[in-house]
Amino acid sequence: MSQYKMWIDGKWVEAESGKTYAVINPATELEVAQVPLGGKVDVDKAVAAARKALPSWSRKSQGERSQIVLKLAALLRENAAEIARLDTLEHGTPVKRAAFLAADTPGWFEWAAYGARSLMGHTIPVSPDTVVYLQREPVGVVAIITPWNLPLLMIFQKLGPALSLGNTCVIKPPSINSLTAIKLAEIIEKLELPPGTVNVVTGPGGSVGEALAAHPGVDMVAFTGSSETGKQIMSLASKTVKRLQLELGGKNPAIILEDADIGVAAAGMAKQQTSNSGQICGSPGRFYVHAKVYDEFLEKFTAEMKKMVMGDPLDPKTELGPLVSAQHRDRVEAYIKSAVDEGAKVILNGKRPTTPPMNKGYYVLPTIITGITPKMKVAREEIFGPVACFMEKFTSDEEVIALANDNVYGLTSWVWTKDMARGMRFANQIQAGTVGLGQGRGGGPEFPWGGYKESGIGKEGSLYGILEFTNLKRVQVDLMPPNK
Ligand code: NAD
Repeated sequence: MSQYKMWIDGKWVEAESGKTYAVINPATELEVAQVPLGGKVDVDKAVAAARKALPSWSRKSQGERSQIVLKLAALLRENAAEIARLDTLEHGTPVKRAAFLAADTPGWFEWAAYGARSLMGHTIPVSPDTVVYLQREPVGVVAIITPWNLPLLMIFQKLGPALSLGNTCVIKPPSINSLTAIKLAEIIEKLELPPGTVNVVTGPGGSVGEALAAHPGVDMVAFTGSSETGKQIMSLASKTVKRLQLELGGKNPAIILEDADIGVAAAGMAKQQTSNSGQICGSPGRFYVHAKVYDEFLEKFTAEMKKMVMGDPLDPKTELGPLVSAQHRDRVEAYIKSAVDEGAKVILNGKRPTTPPMNKGYYVLPTIITGITPKMKVAREEIFGPVACFMEKFTSDEEVIALANDNVYGLTSWVWTKDMARGMRFANQIQAGTVGLGQGRGGGPEFPWGGYKESGIGKEGSLYGILEFTNLKRVQVDLMPPNK
């Protein structure tokens, strides 16, 4: 079993309290590491270090900063095998997927490094006697607080642009999945960064996360996690009016119209429902299927869900691993139970596997629930597991658009139709940051990502995701002689 440290001010340190906590492998239920239990004092030290590093890091030329960020991407790729191993160990990510993520996600640093080098200013032609120009500046010290569902990607999406643009950072990784973030700090140690440019403080949200969100030395909080925590962060951050980027929860509608290619839609949606064992903010949360194709879609979708290979994450054939923790498994099971209690029907699984090796670990089999009505808990709240929720059949476009929008979230959505004009009319009316006409597959730094309503504020990816980490300054130059 390994004992890890935190990375503060360019040094490896224990928590001030001297306490540690256990990281558990969700596939075996065995302890794999001890990680420092950080607290407010550790946050104070990390924020002070980040403030101290800010002048030297932010005053480097853009070219110099971008070169360092590109080097970070290259080192992450060199270390991809070890990063993937840790992702499987602490999160239960199947090895094939972990290898893909470790090789692919450093691209977020490349996007940010090149994007930052291509920013340009503007001038505003106010009058012949006045020159007004706009410039971008770093926001300052950025707290990066992330969830466990994609432990490194969630950090990269924020750290890439924050660092490239000259901000300094304090990262609070998810407490149950901190090992990949500590590995990231080991790689950052090899870069020529002023000490304190990037800090990693491990520990619970209630202490480390809250201390960061409230800290007067933090200028911005870049957060991904649940909407509930997002609201708490907004409240804590309001005391010093911090910049916020919030990527929050979703209960994403997948609409299958009667003219869709049902086989393609069923296969595509089953993959999305089970990716990362359903622990993805952008998973389908509510299926709305037209009455004319409901039975056909459900039959084909069920067949696809049954094909998904659940098993030991170390087996290259495994597509679905365990859920991240016992607590989260219990939460997913409680949602399935609530659906049954409220009158819905589980038509596939809804239980734990019993065959070895899955009789240990936090597994829940791919599950389908039908007969869900809009007021039920599973129609309104995020389950975050391999659980497909089928709402009652619909018959008209207007009806299903109203149903799809009847939720506090607005993260992503799908409309399956062969008629693109009809699809685009749906896209105009759906209240979500993303609409996929068809698969809506893939993410990546080129695309903006971010929610409407309680799904968040601001965007990650694209030029929008870079500008989030800058302040816009207007400089106004008066060309008139002083006494005119
Ligand atoms: P969470 O909100 O419980 O925790 C997220 C992070 O916040 C963790 O690091 C946690 O320790 C910290 N935290 C908890 N309480 C805090 C507090 N009071 N103050 C400050 N920090 C605190 O979320 P989770 O369970 O780790 O992740 C799942 C959630 O993340 C889901 O709701 C999912 O939809 C969302 N998510 C959203 C996106 C997106 O892009 N919109 C992406 C991934 C996950």
